[in-house]
Amino acid sequence: MVTTHAALGALVAAPLLWLAPELAPAAALAGAAGGVFPDADMLVGVHRKSLHYPDYYWLLAVPAVALAALVPGPATVAAAVFLVAAALHSVSDWLGGASDTRPWEPGGRRGVYFHAGDRWLPPRRWVRYDGAPEDLALTVAFSVPAVALFGGTVRTLALGGLALAVPYTVARKRIPQLSGRFPAAVRVAAALLVRLVRR
Ligand SMILES: [Zn+2]
Repeated sequence: MVTTHAALGALVAAPLLWLAPELAPAAALAGAAGGVFPDADMLVGVHRKSLHYPDYYWLLAVPAVALAALVPGPATVAAAVFLVAAALHSVSDWLGGASDTRPWEPGGRRGVYFHAGDRWLPPRRWVRYDGAPEDLALTVAFSVPAVALFGGTVRTLALGGLALAVPYTVARKRIPQLSGRFPAAVRVAAALLVRLVRR
């Protein structure tokens, strides 16, 4: 679910707390944004295809990481973390459930679109569906560093993500119509993000 992707995206920036602490908070926000970004194709295009690139994001992310290492600065580091987070999101959707209205039911064949091969990758279902209990466990695990090591906006957002993830998990099977549309939880998180970033 989106909170897991956001938390994993922020986690990408955690090593910067030691490598370049002054860049870490902004990079964590860029990572969270990159972790959420692919799911904007719920609004436009084909979900898990139009903005999901389990292959091509890496072609941008790897040179972006190299550039950030050579020329570390707010923009290069944020771009690198954003792209790595978007790439991780795309791959992790393949490891999760199907892109179906009721992804917990068997039979869904669309995990994520593999653009280089021009075909859908079948879902691996390591996490059975978005909002499954194991998905909540991942949100919690990935959020611990943001809550424990970061302060300010990053910590507030991580706590906000946890506050959204719990009711989403509890209600997930009762709201199958959320799948394929923009979940209310995402809209709330986006509004919260905008408010916090504008401070
Ligand atoms: Zn996705």
